[in-house]
Amino acid sequence: MTSTLPPVPASLAGRVVAPDDARYERLRHGYVHRGAPAAVLLPEDAGQTAEALRYARSLGSVVSVRSGGHGISGRSTNDGGAVVDVSRLDEVRVLDRARRRIRVGAGARWGRVAQVLGVHGLAVSSGDTGDVGVGGLVTAGGMGWLARLRGLTVDHVTAVELVLADGRFVRTDAEREPDLFWAVRGAGGNFGVVTAVEVEAYETGDVVFANLVFDAGDAAALIEAWGAALEAAPRELTSFLTFMPGGGPGRPQLAHVAAVYAGSAEHGAAERALTPLLGIGPPVQQRAVLAPYPALVPVSGVAHHGQQQLSVTRSGLLDHLTPGAARAVAAGLASGQVLMVQFRSVGGAVNDVDPSATAYAHRTQNFALMSATVPELESGLDAHWARLAPHLNGMYLSFDTRRTPQVLAQAFPEPALSRLRALKERYDPENVFDRNFPLK
Ligand SMILES: Cc1cc2nc3c(=O)[nH]c(=O)nc-3n(C[C@H](O)[C@H](O)[C@H](O)COP(=O)(O)OP(=O)(O)OC[C@H]3O[C@@H](n4cnc5c(N)ncnc54)[C@H](O)[C@@H]3O)c2cc1C
Repeated sequence: MTSTLPPVPASLAGRVVAPDDARYERLRHGYVHRGAPAAVLLPEDAGQTAEALRYARSLGSVVSVRSGGHGISGRSTNDGGAVVDVSRLDEVRVLDRARRRIRVGAGARWGRVAQVLGVHGLAVSSGDTGDVGVGGLVTAGGMGWLARLRGLTVDHVTAVELVLADGRFVRTDAEREPDLFWAVRGAGGNFGVVTAVEVEAYETGDVVFANLVFDAGDAAALIEAWGAALEAAPRELTSFLTFMPGGGPGRPQLAHVAAVYAGSAEHGAAERALTPLLGIGPPVQQRAVLAPYPALVPVSGVAHHGQQQLSVTRSGLLDHLTPGAARAVAAGLASGQVLMVQFRSVGGAVNDVDPSATAYAHRTQNFALMSATVPELESGLDAHWARLAPHLNGMYLSFDTRRTPQVLAQAFPEPALSRLRALKERYDPENVFDRNFPLK
């Protein structure tokens, strides 16, 4: 029932979910934030997405756009506004196996994309989590398990289809509206509702997936050693280093290294690439398995209810993990205010791309860092971040919950920010898509 809402157009009949609808409870929240929108709209194709956007705007309140609902900033739901939820646009299709061209609906989850492509011996690197949606990640960057070998997800996108603020449906690529094509690969959330993307996938067989646990009593030394090992590693190796809360009396702080080797199957190649990681600190546990790529990004299918407690995050990029940067991170961990720190290796193929090729312009850094905590400890997280500031060079918006102009300037170094602002004026002058980050 949609009794308190304006009349629903025939094309959206049954696709507008109001609070008194049985489906509402499963649709209202995101993974990080809980929400109480006035309506969640569930279009099933591009035409309905345009209708849904028009109807959402007619409600006169906030409009959120949602694909997988895993946005860390939690802005794909809201209180009292509308959510255009494209999760029904979830096709995953191989268009041309020989040319490795695939088409993916914005509402698909990356885990399912991996499953469908895996059958064809193909993959597209997305992130480390199969539940993340295509639409949110592919409009921002995509730092995944194959980042050093293959680059970011946006680096392989060949066309994007989206509904603009004025309801116009556009297919943009290198030839058609190339400025828009540039903008949506890094800042897409500000330009429209993406309905589908086409991507050039790559041949991917089994990969070696290593999980190593270290005593992190000397976190700074571990960070430096991991960083040095990654910079010296072949680009077939991508790795994440995570510190989680732990410790306490008699219990050591632990660090988890996950590493994916996606190179040659030749005997000993994976071992050679992984061995330097074994020596970065006192080992607690070591395990490596041969796995098909889809096994790295399973889909859980768990409904969202704001389950992520660490809902305040900061993100930065670093060229190198210097002793000063490592000490600053270790101090944050020791403060007890920072409850999670995660490094990802980038570099490699990410840095082969010209910085002006996509709106995601950071093409020199070797590492991405995210620190997270609970809202009650945000001031401690800020103090940690202030100590780190001199060591950072840019940031990745998808891992940060702030919206300040300073953050935007770090995310989009000039001339990218000015170019984005000019395009925003052209494509969304009324700032309909203002939820993600404030370009205007
Ligand atoms: C557990 C977890 C693990 C993660 N791991 C990684 C990782 O390894 N690598 C990485 O790069 N990122 C990672 N992320 C970040 C993730 O890529 C972003 O948060 C992304 O925005 C989530 O996409 P979504 O569609 O699920 O999000 P949603 O919550 O649906 O959307 C987030 C925002 O993206 C925009 N958006 C969503 N859909 C569309 C659309 N169709 N058209 C236009 N704009 C849209 C909107 O502005 C929206 O507010 C992770 C996030 C989580 C929670």
